[in-house]
Amino acid sequence: MKKDDCIFCKIANGEIPSRTVYEDEKFRVILDLGPATKGHALILPKEHADNLFELPEEIAAEVLPVAKKVADKIKANLHCDGLNLVQNNGEIAGQTVMHFHMHMIPRYENDGQKILWKPGEPSSEELDATLKQILQA
Ligand code: AMP
Ligand code: ZN
Repeated sequence: MKKDDCIFCKIANGEIPSRTVYEDEKFRVILDLGPATKGHALILPKEHADNLFELPEEIAAEVLPVAKKVADKIKANLHCDGLNLVQNNGEIAGQTVMHFHMHMIPRYENDGQKILWKPGEPSSEELDATLKQILQA
């Protein structure tokens, strides 16, 4: 379903023009207007879901095959040295547009970007407790 006030619904469904690098029945992949690097693209499902938590499983299962197709094309034609897949869910995680999207960020030697986190140093007991918490019924 489309959401009337959602810009990525309008872009994904072609109501607003975009620089489309890939399209099929369920997805459109566009160039990000504020790219981290040359070729930064966004995978947009045509069906609206706010984020990963809301995304239907069958759409989720099709995201990575799309990423793979586009990654191969970007690598072949832009000659990137690597590529980050980044996917933010919720404001706290840096999501600014509340329509699920996956970033594809080609990486180049000396591109000046940093897509990293500060590693924590939990004890073995803390890791065990986290595991137990995640696995609880
Ligand atoms: P996020 O922070 O994960 O929600 O990412 C939103 C991304 O969408 C940012 O990288 C923006 O540069 C990009 N963006 C926002 N509006 C548009 C638009 N109209 N067309 C293309 N990219 C957009
Ligand atoms: Zn939407």
